Amino acid sequence: MSSNSWLRIRERLKGSLPSHVFSSLVESTSCFENEESLELSFPDRFVKESFEEKCLTPMRSALKELAMESKKVSLSVLKPTVIRPEPNTISNLTLNPFDPKYTFETFVIGSSNQFAHAACQAVSKQPGQCYNPLFIFGGAGLGKTHLLRAIGYELHKNQSNLRILFLTSEAFTNELIQAIRVDRMRDFREKYRTGCDVLLLDDIHFLAGKERTQEEFFYTFNYLHESRKQIVITSDRYPKDIQGLENRLQTRFEWGLVADVQPPEVETRVAILKNKADEQNINLPDDVAHYIASHVTSNIRELEGSLHRLQMHASLNNSAISVELAQNTLRDLVPKIRHELTADGVLKLVALTFGLKITDLKSEKKARNLSEPRQICMYLLRKHLMMSYPDIGTFLGNRHHTTVLHGVNEIGARSKMDPELENNISKIEALFR
Ligand code: ADP
Ligand code: MG
Repeated sequence: MSSNSWLRIRERLKGSLPSHVFSSLVESTSCFENEESLELSFPDRFVKESFEEKCLTPMRSALKELAMESKKVSLSVLKPTVIRPEPNTISNLTLNPFDPKYTFETFVIGSSNQFAHAACQAVSKQPGQCYNPLFIFGGAGLGKTHLLRAIGYELHKNQSNLRILFLTSEAFTNELIQAIRVDRMRDFREKYRTGCDVLLLDDIHFLAGKERTQEEFFYTFNYLHESRKQIVITSDRYPKDIQGLENRLQTRFEWGLVADVQPPEVETRVAILKNKADEQNINLPDDVAHYIASHVTSNIRELEGSLHRLQMHASLNNSAISVELAQNTLRDLVPKIRHELTADGVLKLVALTFGLKITDLKSEKKARNLSEPRQICMYLLRKHLMMSYPDIGTFLGNRHHTTVLHGVNEIGARSKMDPELENNISKIEALFR
């Protein structure tokens, strides 16, 4: 009865671990097992590491108690897997092998990704007909794989007869090597050519420098493209910028549509955090969402990691999620961004500290969340750079010098009475080089 081992281990762990540790680290962990081994998969590195730290020893004791200590235990972070539904089987009509966590619904749209998102949606409605191939590129953790999975999810839901292959270029390469080794190239070709209606290939830059794989992929590509089968490819950079990738592939990747994903703006980052928090029933106050979003700026995976980490700390300490907790927990994640003591440097730091855009600080907008940071800018520019009131006014979007005078005095006076304001100002000042 090997398939029950994990359930039995879980029962034991439930008894031996604090309930918040059990619920955050064990309950939703999936396990693949056979006679000899247990393979646990985690959604990300942080959960995996927390599991190692908090649960591995209790798990070993549980294995001992259950006389399973001979089982090999391995921990891994979930990776995209090859999904190849058999065509026309009834059971597949209801079961979607794609993870419902990564769909178009759960993807937050902002100006940084709306183009790529729209292209992916178009492809998922009419595969092979609008953009072929669709090539999505952008930095790490910006949602490329999410979009690829969303296409797979949508297609499988609406056209479950399609044979969808979703895999990383690394898996493609390994499979090819294996096929060559055991002399099964025919099967390999059949699988990726005649046996495939939609090819979703993640991280194509992995093929750089791998000539044999590129050649094989070139023929696969041509075959699918000629048969009007949809191909979607992701990469960390623009086709022509992938060094070590054959020219003929680079050219072909530009045949359809090339769409990029950029780092999200602060509003999108806040929205993503709030969505993720909602999905996971985490109570994330607005100021904390803003704090995280304004400090973790480039990568959505890190944004999610920060949220996990924060939630984990809150639940391990039995405390609520607050800005203070975020400051403590994320200390080493948040890079210490320092700026020169120049007018631009002051402006950048103020924008960063409050999670605002520089253009908004310079704009005419009078929203409350803008006017105080703007006045703090005036105050700092006066105090540290001794700029004149008219110069400060000009610098901050042509404001009248009396407005500046008022702002400087206001902050000067209030900071003596308002510890939070004073604290904010000294945090900014601490970041000057
Ligand atoms: P990439 O493949 O570009 O490195 P991923 O697609 O793996 O990045 O995204 C990293 C994480 O960030 C995933 O958990 C993904 O769900 C999440 N993510 C990225 N972009 C968005 C978005 N626009 N809305 C919601 N979640 C996102
Ligand atoms: Mg990816």
